[in-house]
Amino acid sequence: MNDLNKTILVTGGAGFIGSNFIPYYLEQNPEQHIINLDALTYAGDLENLSEVESNPRYQFIKGDIRNRELLEKIFQDHNIHGVVHFAAESHVDNSISNPGVFIETNVNGTFNLLDAAFKTWMKAPFEYREEFRDCRFHHISTDEVYGSLGDTGYFTEKTPYAPNSPYSASKAASDMVVRSYHHTYGMNTVITNCSNNYGPKQHKEKLIPTIIRKAISREDIPIYGNGKNVRDWLYVLDHVKAISLVYTEAKAGDVYNIGGDAEMQNIELAQKICKLLDELKPKDSGSYSEQITFVKDRAGHDQRYAIDASKIRSQLNWKAESKFEDALMETIKFYLK
Ligand code: NAD
Repeated sequence: MNDLNKTILVTGGAGFIGSNFIPYYLEQNPEQHIINLDALTYAGDLENLSEVESNPRYQFIKGDIRNRELLEKIFQDHNIHGVVHFAAESHVDNSISNPGVFIETNVNGTFNLLDAAFKTWMKAPFEYREEFRDCRFHHISTDEVYGSLGDTGYFTEKTPYAPNSPYSASKAASDMVVRSYHHTYGMNTVITNCSNNYGPKQHKEKLIPTIIRKAISREDIPIYGNGKNVRDWLYVLDHVKAISLVYTEAKAGDVYNIGGDAEMQNIELAQKICKLLDELKPKDSGSYSEQITFVKDRAGHDQRYAIDASKIRSQLNWKAESKFEDALMETIKFYLK
């Protein structure tokens, strides 16, 4: 499908999922080069990429996807033959307090990147330049674009979009722009919508790192509302394998949902983490779970997300391989270190 000897541009590679993707992809594709473009916002950290920084097939560029000129220069200078686009503002709570930057980065930034790729790779709608034939744009998105579920049902690739937070609205908008470049210009795009990821290298503001951090520093472990909101948890290393598979195997214009088959209430998750911490790092007395405290609910908090991943399972033969408890244990050990 993609030309295997070329350079791909990864955006947001210093963040959580991107920094798990880059080492995996470089190892799996020994002929390929990666350029990682990241603005190093508060969420990006080059420490996450220490294992690849001396790899001759890896290069980092500090820069912002809102900067169109820079994007054009990168496409011109580096003969980019594919894009895997992770860069985004990604924290729902921040989107409630400061939505503007979510629109700028997630919507306008995605548009800039897509349009720079389009102008470089294609000479007219549905006409790729010969040297860029098959170049692909892979957009990483979220299950939150589908809105909130009740107690039953699952999001499929056909579920209508109904985003509820400024974050999910900005991701939904960016998905739509990507979709339009496929339908209007014949660009080779793919979109993946995944559930909540967990694993090493996640920013400390997110739920699982927060629970661990607060627990071991003997602070209250804050859980929104009544703790009954349900999320599906996907181990990040299962996710990067799915991304790699979709990037190399999917049909142009395709969309895949990726989920971990590990649905649980936030309170159950907090209790599981506390139980594992009780084993790994016991307190002098009592359990970490005694520190769990319910706090005022997040505004507009979606009740439940759940993914039907049968399309990627049947078409691309992918499944989430990790067992939740084992992968959670690995994750906790990483943060304790
Ligand atoms: P993250 O917040 O950990 O990392 C985002 C990265 O993007 C950071 O390195 C940051 O510096 C960079 N970035 C932000 N704004 C930028 C800009 N304007 N220009 C260039 N770089 C910029 O995010 P993540 O958790 O790794 O998520 C990656 C992608 O996956 C996002 O698109 C997110 O919407 C999506 N996603 C994440 C999850 C999850 O559970 N983490 C779930 C579903 C979808």
